[in-house]
Amino acid sequence: MELVLEADGLGRRYGGTWALRECSLRLPAGRVAALVGPNGAGKSTLLHLAVGLSRPDAGEVRVFGHVPYGNTELLAEIGFVAQDTPIYRDLTPEELVIMGGKLNRRWDATLVRTRLAQLGIPPGRPVGKLSGGQRAQVALALALAKRPRLLLLDEPVASLDPLARREFMQSLMGSVAESGTTVLLSSHILGDLERVCDYLIVLHSAEVKLAGPVEELLEGHRQLSGPRAAGARPIAGVAAVVRASHTDRQSTLLVRADGDPIDPEWTVRDVTLEDLILAYLTDDTVTRASHEAWGVPA
Ligand code: ADP
Repeated sequence: MELVLEADGLGRRYGGTWALRECSLRLPAGRVAALVGPNGAGKSTLLHLAVGLSRPDAGEVRVFGHVPYGNTELLAEIGFVAQDTPIYRDLTPEELVIMGGKLNRRWDATLVRTRLAQLGIPPGRPVGKLSGGQRAQVALALALAKRPRLLLLDEPVASLDPLARREFMQSLMGSVAESGTTVLLSSHILGDLERVCDYLIVLHSAEVKLAGPVEELLEGHRQLSGPRAAGARPIAGVAAVVRASHTDRQSTLLVRADGDPIDPEWTVRDVTLEDLILAYLTDDTVTRASHEAWGVPA
């Protein structure tokens, strides 16, 4: 299995505070990975380390087996769409295409021009005068023109309305399906990721709480409900309780299953990606805050 991104004990500190701590990850090739967590979790920090914009204070990160910091050869293989797509607003898409051609060894100008024409984006209008959705599409098209083997996107749709978000995600998925590019996409909006990602990384308070292929993670967890008294005893078929909530009589548990049938005293149901993500934001105050940060009613 080819690994695109590997992190081992990776850490980055600002002053005395860790923005990312003890991060260990393996992202296989060909995946579309979601990097989720509330604002301030450390998502941008991880992406900046992966694209070589900052240098680790602990551990290491490798992309295609190489250290990204200061590695221009490697950077040619990585496309990066930064938060708020800060491309030069006075330039037109066509000028950006020409500039990209001068800055990049491998550059597919036709790909950008065709994409922008398909999306009806005027090539001669300054980027600052385009809509937020169109600007995001221009930034994506420019990142894809490098024909990157890894595409990193930092909250690319956070400022877009729901329709523009859906269009952006559809066009992203269409282009990576064609090229086989590995994608790592950060978002604090769960709905954007549910349909498109097959790999999940949950970050909270600078730490990786959960990481793995979505299918395996969903398969490995269950939601149980049952009489509160039953919660005091060990439950057959449960490896760990990730999160528990209780009423006077009833307990609801999100658990990591150990493969055996679960105790018949409990009603068992499958979990959704959203159940799973919220459960891994462990303590209750954190979970409440995160519900709010994600616009999900607690
Ligand atoms: P996210 O992308 O998940 O919103 P960030 O990676 O931007 O989170 O930030 C993680 C933490 O690091 C936050 O507490 C943030 O305030 C801090 N941080 C990020 N960048 C800087 C910086 N340049 N200087 C100081 N603190 C920073």
